[in-house]
Amino acid sequence: SGARVRRAHHKRPPQFLDRDVDVTFSDVAGLGKIRLELEEIVKFFTHGEMYRRRGVKIPGGILLCGPPGVGKTLLAKAVAVGASRVRALYQEAKEMAPSVVFIDELDAVGRERGLIKGSGGQERDATLNQLLVCLDGFEGRGEVITIASTNRPDILDPALVRPGRFDRKIYIPKPGLIGREEILKVHARKKPMAEDVDYVAVASVTNGMAGADLANIIEVAAINMMRDGRTEISTDDLFQAAQIEESGLLDLKYRSLEMWKRVAFNEAAMAVVAVNFPDFRNIEFVNIAPRAGRNLGYVRVNIDYVKYSEGMLSRQSVLDHITVQLAPRAADEIWNGEDQLSTIWAETAHNARLAARVFCSWWPFREALWGIDEEALRILHTCYDRAKEILLKNRELMEAMVKELVEKKSLTKLEFFRLVELHGSLEPMPPSI
Ligand code: ADP
Repeated sequence: SGARVRRAHHKRPPQFLDRDVDVTFSDVAGLGKIRLELEEIVKFFTHGEMYRRRGVKIPGGILLCGPPGVGKTLLAKAVAVGASRVRALYQEAKEMAPSVVFIDELDAVGRERGLIKGSGGQERDATLNQLLVCLDGFEGRGEVITIASTNRPDILDPALVRPGRFDRKIYIPKPGLIGREEILKVHARKKPMAEDVDYVAVASVTNGMAGADLANIIEVAAINMMRDGRTEISTDDLFQAAQIEESGLLDLKYRSLEMWKRVAFNEAAMAVVAVNFPDFRNIEFVNIAPRAGRNLGYVRVNIDYVKYSEGMLSRQSVLDHITVQLAPRAADEIWNGEDQLSTIWAETAHNARLAARVFCSWWPFREALWGIDEEALRILHTCYDRAKEILLKNRELMEAMVKELVEKKSLTKLEFFRLVELHGSLEPMPPSI
């Protein structure tokens, strides 16, 4: 299997076998309480006896879950090194050395058997078996802690997460605004940053990114600085790097003026509609320069990621989202007419359709079994009309924005909102469903 088991044997300081590892808790940023929770584990190593005497149950293993790049490995390394530091103090007094077994991507060994082999009753994978034996067999818990990481806790063999095994699960989420700021600062420590770098601004345009992405932004910004023969990394270097991280490198392909305009209408429509809605009005930039891996342009809306991931988007927000996704189709109809429609909005219209379907299935009291397609269609039509209405009210804004976009290829937050102020007509609209 693909899992790596790294073991720090006793008699040696407990650390990862990777040569380059020198991670401490100060390298892990933006995780608040989670970090404290793991720091506590270092205490299990060194004060295991004390915990046991007081009847505190020491977990058999800790499962770090969460999307890639959020710092799961980093945390596990920090625990190992942390343990070794403290241990040095007690080395002479203690015979048994603490150790950490770290299993990266536990799902590679620990996938539920049925999921790989189709039927039950088959032999459990030998590696998994061995792992289970080891998890149960360690004497003196608290001196041997197993830490595993996965971004698919849902597919793990239930035997692994039984009490006494990986019975402590810690979810490591993506960082929020403040977390991102802290992570950027940690990675900026060893780089020649300009004095006035605005970390908050960079944090606010990197919504949704994991620590690994943020670390990468600093590296890319440094390369950018070198290329220009400068000696300090500026906020602008970071912005550019953030955009590359998010949308790929600039890919300057040929577009006719007509094509630039169509793309500009497409993106402007989404931005102009979005700015009317409370959860989507936080627009960071609008961009129509083609980038590797993205065909059209891009509107970056800074949604409240926490609210979103915790299921706190309101029903109205979902309808607003659908309306935004339908805006390009509505703009195409308004500015090019039904006869001259392109298919440029196909992807966003598809998103809208999916969202409308999902939305309908949330209302079981409406009897999801009948009429769900009609209901979805009704929602799509209502949202579409709403998008059209907003665009028609903002013709002047749309045209000014398209002009500027075609010229400059991208609008910053400031430029965008200046246009909205000059030409926009934003009125809070009553919900129409
Ligand atoms: P995971 O194991 O969750 O997939 P890693 O721990 O391997 O992610 O993260 C990869 C790299 O990203 C780290 O080595 C570090 O440079 C950076 N990173 C990720 N999360 C954080 C964080 N919370 N604080 C600081 N750096 C981070």
